[in-house]
Amino acid sequence: MKLRFAPSPTGYLHVGNARTLLLNWFQAKKNNAEFVLRFDDTDQERSEDKYVDQIRTDLHWLGIDYSNELKQSDRLDLYARAAKTLKDSGRLYPCYETKNELDFKRKRQLSQGRPPVYDRAALRLSQEEIKEFEAEGSTPHWRFKLDQEASITWEDAAHGTLTFEAKHFSDPILLRENGAPVYTLSGVVDDLDMGITHIIRGDDHISNTAIQIQLMEALGGSGNDFIFAHMPLLTGSDGGGLSKRLGSLGLKDLKEQQVEPMSILSYLGTLGNSSDAETYTSTEAFLEKFDLKNFGKSAPKFSMEDLERTNEKFLQLVSFDQIKERLNQLGFTNITPEFWLTIQGNLKYLTDVKELYDICYNNITPHVEDQDYMATALNLLPETPWTTDTWKEWTCALKEKTGRKGRELFMPLRQALTAANHGPEMKNILPFIGPEKTMKRLKGETA
Ligand code: GLU
Repeated sequence: MKLRFAPSPTGYLHVGNARTLLLNWFQAKKNNAEFVLRFDDTDQERSEDKYVDQIRTDLHWLGIDYSNELKQSDRLDLYARAAKTLKDSGRLYPCYETKNELDFKRKRQLSQGRPPVYDRAALRLSQEEIKEFEAEGSTPHWRFKLDQEASITWEDAAHGTLTFEAKHFSDPILLRENGAPVYTLSGVVDDLDMGITHIIRGDDHISNTAIQIQLMEALGGSGNDFIFAHMPLLTGSDGGGLSKRLGSLGLKDLKEQQVEPMSILSYLGTLGNSSDAETYTSTEAFLEKFDLKNFGKSAPKFSMEDLERTNEKFLQLVSFDQIKERLNQLGFTNITPEFWLTIQGNLKYLTDVKELYDICYNNITPHVEDQDYMATALNLLPETPWTTDTWKEWTCALKEKTGRKGRELFMPLRQALTAANHGPEMKNILPFIGPEKTMKRLKGETA
């Protein structure tokens, strides 16, 4: 088994691409199969190195490993050879129509209520006409001659049996005027050459697949050599298209927003799988349950709020050992396992640790209004060592002494000790703040 992720480096990866990436990678990992990163960069005008670099960075960030990396722009010889094979067998023919002419034909067909299928006019050109075009300096683009009599059918892992009549498709362009291969050709050549077994991609590629199956056959391969899974594209939470919003849902943006990579793996890996809504803290645990069969043909709804909730849940569940390195990266270096246990239920993002970390380990300026109450509180501070029972002991004593209760009793203490009106339970963080800081803060001192 061998799989690939084949992004076109013409933009940044967004959550939609990431889902395709992950489903391929999960399938590979689950089966100990090879997984290859292939840059489909034959569109020289739109492909950019900065996207190639960022895609590598994104994969690294997500923890996605791959055994090999290919770039189609390094393999042009291979596509030229395949084009020659097709020309020699009469399956690739030159066309000289300009874009405007093609547009015009299409519009006319549509206005006559006919499907806008290419009329194969180029196949009827005489040798003289071709010579004339050449003499005028026109260079042709090249189309693949489909077997229009054939039905194309395959068992799709997401959609079940799919069948198409070739006559409904235009002969696809495989080489541009400048000789550059189009993805339809280069993708097939590579999938055959690389020995790919599973092609998992968005269902916007379904009609490509119908065409590519004929192309595979024309090149000596077979569509039966592959398992195709065309995954429905993500929609917005209202069921509408996500495409307009995808620009702001880049992996790069999610990283900047401090969404944890594992939350993305867990969320996108369970999205569209009705039998699994768990939040996973490790790829290993996720893979135990992963089965491509659980992903059907209904379009999964992406919601940023749900991703955030998964992130929150992930932080609630993740062990200190697992998150330690990330905490270090963010500069939270002296966090103990006990402190992590105390705060992990109060985080939406890992960066929220900062507020709690500052309260326990850095200096803050307390909010103190009622100095008399603070003085009483100072006098009644319990003996050390402090535990999670200390808060109760302290506030009970204060209640008895002052007659205060509820908000009046607790809020001034919270404001003095944390400089905030809300946060984690005081009984949990008091031992971490410790007596020294507590005493100073009750006196209104920065500590
Ligand atoms: N480069 C194509 C894309 O990004 C690859 C599709 C495929 O997986 O074959 O859509």
